[in-house]
Amino acid sequence: MIPVAEARARILEAMPRMPVEWVALPAARDRVLGRDLYARRSQPPLAVSAMDGYAVRSADLREPGAVLRVIGEVPAGRLFEGRVGPGEAVRIFTGAPLPEGADAVLMQERATRSGDRIRAEIALPPGKFVRPAGLDFEAGWKGLAAGHRLDARALGLAAAMGHAWLPVRRRPRVAILATGDELVWPGETPGPAGIVSSNNPTLAAMVAGWGGEPIDLGIARDRPEDLVRALEQARGADLLVTSGGASVGGYDLVQETLIGQGLEVDFWKIAMRPGKPLIFGRFGDIPFLGLPGNPVSAAVCAIVYLRAALRASLGRPSELPVIRAPLATALPANDEREDYLRASWGRGEDGTPRAVPADRQDSSMFATFARADLLLRRPPHEPARAAGEMVEVIEIARALGE
Ligand code: AMP
Ligand code: MG
Repeated sequence: MIPVAEARARILEAMPRMPVEWVALPAARDRVLGRDLYARRSQPPLAVSAMDGYAVRSADLREPGAVLRVIGEVPAGRLFEGRVGPGEAVRIFTGAPLPEGADAVLMQERATRSGDRIRAEIALPPGKFVRPAGLDFEAGWKGLAAGHRLDARALGLAAAMGHAWLPVRRRPRVAILATGDELVWPGETPGPAGIVSSNNPTLAAMVAGWGGEPIDLGIARDRPEDLVRALEQARGADLLVTSGGASVGGYDLVQETLIGQGLEVDFWKIAMRPGKPLIFGRFGDIPFLGLPGNPVSAAVCAIVYLRAALRASLGRPSELPVIRAPLATALPANDEREDYLRASWGRGEDGTPRAVPADRQDSSMFATFARADLLLRRPPHEPARAAGEMVEVIEIARALGE
């Protein structure tokens, strides 16, 4: 059994970095930037008004009650041709460039207009309600770094910076294969001793959520020929993921069969619960991750390893989003395996959030995983912990969404 950190490090090392491709900005949502993105223009490009009102010379408005002559107007998107001289003002609207000569904006609510005259009800300091050029950002500013996942805000910023096409990493193609004679496809009726494969849809959705392209190869029966046939379909994938058949049962054929087909095993078995029988290696030039079959083990190992692998291939940091929270109930000492317990948010008597571990942690119990808020991470050999002590937790929704 190798430690979790070592297993992660070996997987990250083996993952290829995806090439960069250009996509049109609206199609780039959820994609990952392949290069740093710099502003091609300043925002705003010139000093502009922050209000609807009058562009004025602050020197004319040292005292309330000044009367100015309005010599024209300037809406957003236009330049005022001319200059604001002493005793003059220009009608201006939000976002419009400040005319030459003006250095402040009198908001319209503070001006009384009659004909081409306005009376300023207040005094104004220089710069009042003026947004200087480059207030938001300057041309050449590095607005978004390589590895940034493009959400709605990032797309808006990229657009404002003057980009219509974005350099993003190709989505890693992840071939997913479930194994097991007992499995049927979702929607099919299982035999009396059969079950529905939940791992296929879970893993496919996880891969998509992490920015990959899932290629679901379905279910292979527990026969070498079937596995080999299914694996033919994995050619061209950037990563091959199987579930089931990974431990030491008589029908656990994955490792043996794949070795016969040229799999080079990097490691097998990790000091982790759930998920001990994890396999990692290379199948030709494709990295291969063999997940355990139990749905909770498969899902938790996917969160710990597959997510990191995809992030590495996209040039993103691969750490889990670990935060600390007080424990709601005592936990006994841990053994030599790193533990990932299903837990949920509860509240202490004072109303502060607390991590409540699920009573039962059997790795076949997918319902408790599907309803859990958290994975509570315990290091190997951690001593017993009392209620109220701080522990490490991972918010599952966050780990799935990033
Ligand atoms: P295995 O590792 O193949 O021995 O599988 C361990 C347990 O996980 C068995 O009870 C299987 O029925 C179950 N299992 C394996 N694959 C899947 C799957 N794709 N979906 C749901 N359960 C599975
Ligand atoms: Mg099996």
